[in-house]
Amino acid sequence: MTHVLPGLAKPAASPEAVFDAVFRPTGVDGVYGRSGAYESVVEALAVMISRERDAMAEVVRFPPVASRALIEKAGYLKSFPHLLGCVCALGGGNQRIASAVARFEAGETWTDGLEPSDLVLTPAACYPIYPMAAARGPVPRDGLIFDVASDCFRREPSRDIDRLQSFRMREYVRIGTLEQTTTFREEWRERAAALADRLGISYRIEAASDPFFGRVGAMVGRYQVEQQLKYELVVPVRSTETPTACMSFNYHRDHFGQTFDMRGEDGAFAHTTCVAFGMDRLAVALFATHGTEIAKWPAAVRSALNL
Ligand code: AMP
Ligand code: ZN
Repeated sequence: MTHVLPGLAKPAASPEAVFDAVFRPTGVDGVYGRSGAYESVVEALAVMISRERDAMAEVVRFPPVASRALIEKAGYLKSFPHLLGCVCALGGGNQRIASAVARFEAGETWTDGLEPSDLVLTPAACYPIYPMAAARGPVPRDGLIFDVASDCFRREPSRDIDRLQSFRMREYVRIGTLEQTTTFREEWRERAAALADRLGISYRIEAASDPFFGRVGAMVGRYQVEQQLKYELVVPVRSTETPTACMSFNYHRDHFGQTFDMRGEDGAFAHTTCVAFGMDRLAVALFATHGTEIAKWPAAVRSALNL
């Protein structure tokens, strides 16, 4: 069942007005400082989402960098090589480092002295949890639920206020049987809709695809929509015609179970699903919907957020 609402309401504040109110330019598209008011909304959203946490959920917070080997193993390079950011550092010993610095000081190119490290910038909050869970042995009968979060990076520079290179993601991850994961995702669709109602935002939940790389990727994306492996809760931020995905509900079947040899007590590969909250997109959507001054937001919304 998909919530198809009759139409999306036009945002009250323009993208430019929202940008000026909440973001502070750093000279790089999609990388912004954030105002105090904006951060208070992000924090309030985090509290609201925490209140929805299942009693059995384990909380794990990840840093903005992750193991490159893990991301390679998870298949990220096959699906989204264009979005990945890798951490590089000057290497090759003191002499080579000094020579790169000297080239920089002489106004020459120094970046050819950089070497790839064993780190990448975390592209989604849930990746590191799968090998961690797999390492604990068989998935218990009741399955597992994790509450994860991370600063995430995706190499998609843009001037759109809803497309950042560096943004925050919170996720509830369910690991278990096909039935446990499917039920979790279906329940979360309802709960997410209820959350969006409390936030007073106009939204729609629809089947979606990830931005897979290349021509083969486009086919994978179509298959994903057909099989309804991904839904998104979209909200008008820049326009009603191209609403913004603020939450996503992903079903990976047993991809991570197979990849990380994560099995149930019966030996079957575990299924996984995740509900992702784009914290920055949700905050931007609130400012776009209700205006740039929190004091003028509807009382019910401020009370839901305790603002
Ligand atoms: P995805 O893994 O693409 O479904 O991303 C999970 C959530 O992160 C999405 O539902 C968005 O809310 C958020 N998100 C994804 N990409 C960006 C971006 N470039 N800027 C801000 N938020 C994003
Ligand atoms: Zn995820």
